[in-house]
Parts: sequence; C-alpha cells; structure tokens
Amino acid sequence: MSPQARTYLGIPREQIPWAPRVDLEACIGCGECVSFCPNGVYALDEAEQKVAVANPMNCVVLCNRCAASCPNDAITFPDREETKRFLKELGAKLRAQ
Ligand code: SF4
Ligand code: SF4
Repeated sequence: MSPQARTYLGIPREQIPWAPRVDLEACIGCGECVSFCPNGVYALDEAEQKVAVANPMNCVVLCNRCAASCPNDAITFPDREETKRFLKELGAKLRAQ
C-alpha cells in the first residue's frame, strides 16, 4: 500500500505524534481493527494472537474511528484537543521559519 500524504497542514507527518496505542494485555487478537482501518496501520501477529501498530505514520491525523471497533477497549489515542493545540503551535512555528 502506498503511504498517505506525508504532511498534514504543511507539517511533516513524522513530527506529529498521532497514532493508536494498543494495550496488549487487553488485546485478544481478533483482527477487527486490522479489517477496519483502510490504511494498513495494524498488523496481526497470528502466532502471538496480538495486534501490532505496524505503520503508525499511516494513521490519519486526528482519526480515532477504529477505537470503537475493538471489543475489548484495547485501543486508545492521544488527547485530540492537546494534539490540535500542538499542531497549531508547530504549524505557526514552521510558517515563521
Ligand atoms: S484511527 Fe483511522 S487511520 Fe488511524 S488506525 Fe484507526 S481507522 Fe486507521
Ligand atoms: S480490535 Fe482490539 S482486541 Fe481485536 S486485534 Fe484489534 S486491538 Fe486487539
């Protein structure tokens, strides 16, 4: 799969700490999140029956839709409002350069 655009509002994607986190204690390896996300963010480790966040930078900035697909509430995201503030500040800083 080709990676999504590598900037968001002019900010290099790599500088934006937005991606899902999986609580591996809670993950039962059902694969719902893998099927749900169209961007190949997750990969299932079938031997371990756990999911890995294999391509975190493919996660769409501020998307958190797959959290609801998890039957065990194992998926969390950074705080959206905090992230929006971060993006605003970093964007302004980059534009001033
Ligand atoms: S939040 Fe959206 S883009 Fe990110 S992993 Fe979940 S479904 Fe995929
Ligand atoms: S949906 Fe939840 S339990 Fe299922 S593989 Fe993904 S993180 Fe694990």
